[in-house]
Amino acid sequence: MNIILLGPPGAGKGTQAAMLVKERNMIQLSTGDMLREAKTSGTAMGKKVAEVMDRGELVTDEIVIGLIREKLEGDKKGGFIFDGFPRTLAQADALDALLSEQGETLDAVIEMQVNDEVLVSRILNRAAEAVAAGGEARADDNEESLKVRLMAYYKQTSPLIGYYHAKGQLSSVDGLGTIDAVTADIAATLK
Ligand code: AMP
Repeated sequence: MNIILLGPPGAGKGTQAAMLVKERNMIQLSTGDMLREAKTSGTAMGKKVAEVMDRGELVTDEIVIGLIREKLEGDKKGGFIFDGFPRTLAQADALDALLSEQGETLDAVIEMQVNDEVLVSRILNRAAEAVAAGGEARADDNEESLKVRLMAYYKQTSPLIGYYHAKGQLSSVDGLGTIDAVTADIAATLK
């Protein structure tokens, strides 16, 4: 089974993807994690995307599609969870093509609904917790970048909701409940 978790920054996509990995032996494909890894390891691509990511803008379709392409060719285990990908219609089209090249299908798109006020406080809390634990906050977990990230979501990513709805693949869950409640809603959707 291959699924997309769709939702704005702070909606809980990463948290729910981790639950699905544990419960269903699925593979989490987070383009955000892959890009952050490239950034910290200082690869040429990492250097290229660093400023764009820190500002909160989207990196190019070409880069993220390339990252996903590589991963789809490997072990598929219980299927893929696309977390933070696709974020544009061009990426959605590319994903369709990549999956069919692999003889795979997209089984569900789960939209996690959360309001903006919760998003801002969740992200600023995440940043404060990282610092309190002696680490560093994500370079884009600050109010300024978050505004840009939310704008990118509404402008470039939210059209995917209509797109997948029209294709009959969209289910929506309330992302405001407890982690366990959201996990249960997602499980019910995937039955
Ligand atoms: P995330 O961890 O999913 O919040 O992603 C962090 C940042 O990585 C985003 O704000 C973008 O700059 C970049 N990014 C992650 N996934 C994508 C994607 N599918 N398309 C474009 N940029 C992305």
